Amino acid sequence: MSVTATAYEAVMGIECHVELKTETKMFCGCRNIFGAEPNTNVCPTCLGLPGALPVPNRVALELLVKAGLAFDAEIPAFSKFDRKNYFYPDMPKDYQISQFDMPLTQGGVVKYWLPDGTQRSCRLTRIHLEEDTGKSTHAGSRDGRIAGSTYSLVDFNRAGVPLMECVSEPDIRTAAEAVAYLEALKRTFVALGVSDVKMEEGSLRCDVNLSLRPVGATEYGTKAEIKNMNSFNSVGRAIESEIARQTAILEGGGRVVQETRGWDEAAGTTHTMRSKEQAHDYRYFPDPDLTPIEFAPQDVERLRRELGSLPYERLERLIETDKLRVEQAHQIIDTPGLYGYYAAAAGLSGKPQATLNFVLGDLSRLANETNTPVASCGVTPEALAEIVALTEGQTINSKTAKELLARVWVEGGSPKAIVAAEGLGQVSDAGAIDAIVAGVLAANEKTVEEYRAGKTKVMGFLVGQVMKASRGKANPTLAEERLRAHLA
Ligand SMILES: [Zn+2]
Repeated sequence: MSVTATAYEAVMGIECHVELKTETKMFCGCRNIFGAEPNTNVCPTCLGLPGALPVPNRVALELLVKAGLAFDAEIPAFSKFDRKNYFYPDMPKDYQISQFDMPLTQGGVVKYWLPDGTQRSCRLTRIHLEEDTGKSTHAGSRDGRIAGSTYSLVDFNRAGVPLMECVSEPDIRTAAEAVAYLEALKRTFVALGVSDVKMEEGSLRCDVNLSLRPVGATEYGTKAEIKNMNSFNSVGRAIESEIARQTAILEGGGRVVQETRGWDEAAGTTHTMRSKEQAHDYRYFPDPDLTPIEFAPQDVERLRRELGSLPYERLERLIETDKLRVEQAHQIIDTPGLYGYYAAAAGLSGKPQATLNFVLGDLSRLANETNTPVASCGVTPEALAEIVALTEGQTINSKTAKELLARVWVEGGSPKAIVAAEGLGQVSDAGAIDAIVAGVLAANEKTVEEYRAGKTKVMGFLVGQVMKASRGKANPTLAEERLRAHLA
């Protein structure tokens, strides 16, 4: 690298569109479901027929307020819907009902952790509510794009589905931060029951605004907006690709053009889609068919109480208090029912790390093999806490623990009682182990000679023989210690 090269940092803000999980659409009684036969969930209102009037969906309003409260956003007492005017073939009214200057929530902050354990945060500008458009399918072209297609089909089932838009401040600097931020949003919306957040079904779509500036500069550079990413992985790749493109332009003495760019998954690059519209191009005005929305303080407080324990708070406990690795903590939070199970078992055992090793190890493996969630298997949190105590107290060895877990997984019951009744406790008595060791050494003279000749790796074999002779109950650490003593 040349010593005179300027180092650039990326500045990113993210806009996320998330479809809300409601029974019905935003302004009519049509069903809100994915994958129905095209144009079967439609009515005069969501088809924009003359004279049809919108009625706001109370559940959607409340879900959006809850989403805001989960990130400590402010809920203004007064909010309204506006018309955003533009033509689009899959938007029959020629305008979209959205929110312009008085959104349902303002501000807030999303806190998240990066895989290396650092905590970051990104401020929210606002979360507002709007209606989704219909969906066009362009046929006859090679790649499904409108260019080169011979005809287009439109499905209005999605028209009028409640859609929330989360707009962030430009607080994100790297692709890893962008992905961790999106995962934090997703985790929270799923926990609140606000949305399914399935990118593959289009219930979460996001756009990234990205500009570069010299490290240390305070002014922002010219930004490009990137669209059409269909997974969190593509968001990360699109950002890396766009940072490389803008860096090359700036290093070559050029200027970045403000525009909207599409992500091409196969090519791994972004391409120009259109020059960016400005807010005034949409001629926003208050929707005369809809009265302003008022949220009484007691309603906001009721919704706040309904939030329950948030993923952020649970992660904070797992990472900061229980000292779990970020990846492990995410795995626990992202598996349904696992957090409650782990928290109960760790609370009973008092050994978070040992409990976690069983939960993410043997229990998760059994869950996969039997297709049963850990939370509903025969090993109750109490039973797991007993196993942890038996193992940590050296009463049983890890082999016995594994066998006990598999057995209690199916049969249920108390591991402690089984160990007592069947004498499964490991042999940690030096005298008893010495007797077994003597027998093993006598029966394996050739191996003993090899060990004495310097082939020390045969120790593993000898320990195995002691374990076998004790029917799995010998304390393996003690067995090796006694073998070494005998062979010294
Ligand atoms: Zn409808």
